[in-house]
Amino acid sequence: MQIYKVGGAVRDRLLGLPVTDIDWVVVGATTEEMLAQGFRPVGADFPVFLHPKTGEEYALARTERKSGRGYGGFTFHASPEVTLEEDLIRRDLTINAMAEDDQHNLTDPYHGQRDLEARILRHVSPAFAEDPLRVLRVARFAARYAGLGFHVAPPTLELMRQLSASGELQALTAERSWKEISRALMEDQPQVFIEVLRDCGALKELMPEVDALFGVPQPEIHHPEIDSGVHTLSVLEQSALHKQPLTVRWACLLHDLGKGLTPEEEWPRHIAHEHKGLKLIKAVNERFKAPKDCQELALLVGQYHTHGHRALELKASTLLELLQSFDVYRRPQRFEEFIAACEMDARGRKGLEQRSYPQADYLRGAASVARGVAVQPLLEKGFKGPELGEALKRERLKALKAYKENQ
Ligand code: ATP
Ligand code: MG
Repeated sequence: MQIYKVGGAVRDRLLGLPVTDIDWVVVGATTEEMLAQGFRPVGADFPVFLHPKTGEEYALARTERKSGRGYGGFTFHASPEVTLEEDLIRRDLTINAMAEDDQHNLTDPYHGQRDLEARILRHVSPAFAEDPLRVLRVARFAARYAGLGFHVAPPTLELMRQLSASGELQALTAERSWKEISRALMEDQPQVFIEVLRDCGALKELMPEVDALFGVPQPEIHHPEIDSGVHTLSVLEQSALHKQPLTVRWACLLHDLGKGLTPEEEWPRHIAHEHKGLKLIKAVNERFKAPKDCQELALLVGQYHTHGHRALELKASTLLELLQSFDVYRRPQRFEEFIAACEMDARGRKGLEQRSYPQADYLRGAASVARGVAVQPLLEKGFKGPELGEALKRERLKALKAYKENQ
């Protein structure tokens, strides 16, 4: 049997980037031979094994054929006769379809190295269209390598367009889509992911609520960029520049969805968009089965981001309600993430990227004041049950009023 490094490990080494996980392909072997060598089988669908010592993935060379809708509709054929070239041709992009032996000899039948040098993301063969997930993968690689000057080859973008128009994206499972989306959001330029999806018509299929923001104007005085979609991309860009976690980036992407629902007569104003957007945020959350912390933060940021911007003008009682809504006493981290998302929203505006955001420290201060109200003295006074809750609220309100006056 011959063993080769494939995919991302070869690509990233040639780009001079650090390689974290290595995928291997094995040519000329049977499942029995792999098991005899101590490899452990994983995955019921096709022959992939874990190395007994390193735990890295080794896949038998295989060919694939489409036999139905979605990813389930694939038949795999693995046998010792399948060649390296046959295995490589089923891969998505030419830069991902190179293999390397232990002497660093490159097998590159589809000119991945040429495309790496030319900074092009190009599909390997027309079979690209057989798995709609590849649309998301290409957009994710575009986001990851945008900083190096990569772009999608026009014929590949055209294939992605056809694939999006065919309705096949609807056959993707929430799990596969979320894996790509969440990884893409954590790249250095996540806004490029959304831009590429939009360019090929996939955004309209996957997240019509985000797609609908493009072409919707906002008041120029607060939003020099005017367009709501452009604003959303900038907010996402800021979230990556500021190294925000996934929860914050997801909330940034979805925070303004309500603006897509405003009747044209009301443009460029968006009265109550925070509230109107909640059902859209919920729908997107559920469509991709986003993790609970992402779902929760997106809804809270959607509902309260304007409160964040107006923090310094809020009445003490409104400030208290905001803090209660976030349960800042038990969930301080989530409130920090809310503040971060508001700050990204404020900076994700043309020409205002460097602005200061005094609201952040003000909100942190308010949270710590409210948190600092001690329960013990109230217990000593004999408060208990619902009355204790009311008394605590009164004390917190008093403390917040004093906090406001001292600013
Ligand atoms: P990363 O750095 O994100 O891990 P990668 O290229 O290694 O990038 P993997 O998802 O680990 O991506 O997949 C390994 C290889 O398997 C890819 O380089 C590609 O050749 C192939 N591959 C993975 N998923 C697909 C797919 N849906 N369609 C076609 N080829 C795929
Ligand atoms: Mg990999």
